[in-house]
Amino acid sequence: MFNPIADLRRTEPLMDRFGRRISYLRVSVTDRCDFRCLYCMPQAMAFLPKRDLLTLEELDRLATAFVRRGVRRLRITGGEPLVRRNVMALFRSLSRHLRSGMLDELTLTTNGSQLERFAAELADCGVRRINVSLDTRDTGKFRSLTRGGELTDVLAGIDAARRAGLSVKINTVALQGINEDEIESLIAWSHGEGFGITLIEVMPLGDVGCNRTAHFLPLSTVRQRLARHLTLVDLPDRTGGPARYVQVVETGGRLGFITPLTHNFCEGCNRVRVTCDGVLFTCLGQADSTDLRAVLRSSPEDSALHAAIDLAIASKPKGHDFVVDRLRDGPALPRHMSATGG
Ligand code: SAM
Ligand code: SF4
Repeated sequence: MFNPIADLRRTEPLMDRFGRRISYLRVSVTDRCDFRCLYCMPQAMAFLPKRDLLTLEELDRLATAFVRRGVRRLRITGGEPLVRRNVMALFRSLSRHLRSGMLDELTLTTNGSQLERFAAELADCGVRRINVSLDTRDTGKFRSLTRGGELTDVLAGIDAARRAGLSVKINTVALQGINEDEIESLIAWSHGEGFGITLIEVMPLGDVGCNRTAHFLPLSTVRQRLARHLTLVDLPDRTGGPARYVQVVETGGRLGFITPLTHNFCEGCNRVRVTCDGVLFTCLGQADSTDLRAVLRSSPEDSALHAAIDLAIASKPKGHDFVVDRLRDGPALPRHMSATGG
């Protein structure tokens, strides 16, 4: 039966108790991946049983509930989102929110391995910008860092994206002893190709079976090193996330720094994340979570879902508690980045 109060709640914008408006949702559509990046997951990663994953229809229903509550930007991530079977059906159906004007942006974070196949269709679904992760342009290093990935596939994917008219941003995790000597040339290459590039500090998320802290490279150090050869001019651009941007005068390109271990962005945080099994995380750096899958599956009607979302947003933490403890090798949080998505 029509319930005017419940219906009103369904379109009320999501706002947390600190007055932060939630306008950005990242949805992980799979925890699986065709790579095994050293800092992200162990070689023998234990993936979720398929029955635990939200179906594509459930993912659409969940994302749509958030869009109705004021989410304007939606990023599809993973694991590797493009290895999820029939994932384009999800993009296709979510694109209706772009056409209706309820959504400003539908985007994707990908490792690029399958991009050659999907770039044109993504563009056709209204995707305009994508993030492609690339930590090295050295074929051998790429293979060992991703434990088996092929650089040529990723470069072909990036090329296909460009041909399809997608704007590409490169994401690079800065890793001590692995790619620290290549960062300047990655910036030059990205900017030469007309791509933005963002450097990311490695985060202690999930056990990866090796000493990740040994590869932790503070971006403050990277920035100091870059400043020896490049002129970096701070830009005012803020996205509600942990990224800070500069203009590189010599290349004319934009360079981002993501330092998730600092607290300097939490006050403007506008985002939440849902894992591929329907768990809502309101902070990347906190363990607090809400199981939306159970709620979704309990009823075909959305009132309980909206109530659960309201409750979770009301307790969104003020900030995160990441600790980079170089003496301790264990993760700060047990879940992997591939579960919550980047
Ligand atoms: N597979 C896709 C990719 O690699 O772009 C999407 C998911 S991946 C988890 C998203 C981003 O998170 C990538 O840019 C990746 O480099 C980054 N990432 C993964 N594990 C990380 C960690 N422990 N610390 C910092 N960034 C990490
Ligand atoms: Fe896969 Fe992305 Fe994690 Fe690499 S960073 S293992 S590509 S999910």
